[in-house]
Amino acid sequence: MKTIYSLLFIIIGLSFTNLVFSQGNYPNTPPAVSPMPMKPEMTEIWEPEVPVVTPGKNLGDAPSDATILFNGENLDQWASKKDPSRPAPWKIVDKTHMEVVPGSGDIQTKMKFGDCQLHLEFSAPDAVESQGQGRGNSGVFFQNRYELQILDSYNNRTYRNGQAGSIYKDHAPLVNAMKGPLEWNTFDVIYRAPRFKADGSLDSPATITVLHNGVLVQNNVTINGLTLYIGLHHYPEAHGDDVISLQDHGNKTQFRNIWIRKL
Ligand code: MG
Repeated sequence: MKTIYSLLFIIIGLSFTNLVFSQGNYPNTPPAVSPMPMKPEMTEIWEPEVPVVTPGKNLGDAPSDATILFNGENLDQWASKKDPSRPAPWKIVDKTHMEVVPGSGDIQTKMKFGDCQLHLEFSAPDAVESQGQGRGNSGVFFQNRYELQILDSYNNRTYRNGQAGSIYKDHAPLVNAMKGPLEWNTFDVIYRAPRFKADGSLDSPATITVLHNGVLVQNNVTINGLTLYIGLHHYPEAHGDDVISLQDHGNKTQFRNIWIRKL
């Protein structure tokens, strides 16, 4: 009997030691009960002060620290993708928006970006023509590689991972929040670039959150690689910040009020 009690004592003792060691990371892992009486100020962090950003007047307007990529005036922040030394070949309409000139090619920012918050407004062509992927097709390519699809998805069925708000052929949007072709849509995007190891292999994939007209359509999804029309997506060679490009898919898609914040 005595042996059993001794054994029990040892087991309890070992469990207690285990408990103490499991909390051995303190102070990084605080114990459930504070070893000293806490005061409110002991958990207040004051420095450095959080920087002030003046928000836009209306929802969707650029905040004070944003880079304006397009405000209707000119295409100074953009270049031709075919030949980046040449100006963007799309047209400005009424000093309010730009329109794809079908066949002229994609356009791209002059600046390069990685992690960012992007606001962009787009409208499908006024005249509803064709169907499926042929109607109001365009797209936003983050780091010139990963496409957030733009399409006239208003009463226009296509494959679900190819409609507006999809990460093209990767993730379907959670819902279809598309407005009619005579109305403007907004995209608000939080994009986190992929990370690569020193040997060039993928460390962590890109992730993206997208609100379409204020409605969540991509909830921090993992981008599975380079956007491809044919074939399974996979990560390309290691790369750093790169341009954002807008697609000419042969449709007169319109854009306005594009701004970005580097994160
Ligand atoms: Mg597209």
